[in-house]
Amino acid sequence: MAGEHGCGRPRVAVSRCLLGEPVRHNGNHSRARYLTDELAPFVDWVPICPEMEIGLGTPRESLRLVRSPGGPRLVGRGSGLDHTPAMTALAAERSAGLDADGYVFKSKSPSCGIHGIPLYAGEASLDRHNRGLFAGAVIDDHPLLPVEDEGRLNDAVLREAFTERIFAHARLRELLRSDWRPRDLVDFQSRHKMQLLAHSTEGYRETGRVAAGAGTRPRAELAEAYETAFRTALAVRSTVGRNVNVLQHCLGMLGNELDPVRRADLAEVIASYAVRRVALSVPIALLRHHARSEAATYVQNQTYFLPYPDELGLRNHVVG
Ligand code: SF4
Repeated sequence: MAGEHGCGRPRVAVSRCLLGEPVRHNGNHSRARYLTDELAPFVDWVPICPEMEIGLGTPRESLRLVRSPGGPRLVGRGSGLDHTPAMTALAAERSAGLDADGYVFKSKSPSCGIHGIPLYAGEASLDRHNRGLFAGAVIDDHPLLPVEDEGRLNDAVLREAFTERIFAHARLRELLRSDWRPRDLVDFQSRHKMQLLAHSTEGYRETGRVAAGAGTRPRAELAEAYETAFRTALAVRSTVGRNVNVLQHCLGMLGNELDPVRRADLAEVIASYAVRRVALSVPIALLRHHARSEAATYVQNQTYFLPYPDELGLRNHVVG
């Protein structure tokens, strides 16, 4: 654990304009600072601009979604040119070949938006409950892929949740693409116990059940079943209550290693986190410190304590 988050680099698909590339319809970009300045050193991007990839240059006419009997269509705002067939074909192709641990989409785009996209009938906007044509197809094909838009990533809780998931997906991807043995999967499950429990007790049990079958099922079948169970568990939002349970569990495992004063200190800090007086980073830092100084290896090795690089500073917010 010491200084190592123990995972490789997530591969993150991203709307190209968010990386500062001038591919928007008006020739501009939509650089997202969290991505380019903070996350970039730790991930590999898979930049995708669907409108450029279907052959629309920049600058270009802006597009919008319009109502039609067969579902929303993507058309030119002024010309009415219908780009739906090209965009649908591109989405199918890109989605089938998508090799990514997460996807950050550009908000408010009729191609890339993941929610709140207006649907038009003539000049009237009917509702704003739609996804962009490209993004919607990718999400339908990859329901367990962590996805966000750059606007939602401004929210500290959503940012932390997304980042945690992409690093977890990357760790599992790296394992399953290596020459892994059944015991490696059991070890992976063991190292993720606390992290899984912070999301879902049920998810922890299910992943444990699948991992326990390592060595008795064909590798490919086992890998697929574990991947689905692991991703499903992490898709459940972690809560303060579940984190408190995990922290207390870890405190229990440190057990008699700690003298009564330090135990009481830790219990107090966990209680402060439970009532939202301190950020999660505070009890985590203290537990890590004690686990290291007491050489409590099992606790130290839990990915829960370092699910992504510390430099991202994502657990420093106090949950409201
Ligand atoms: Fe391209 Fe999507 Fe950005 Fe539009 S929102 S410029 S389609 S990447």
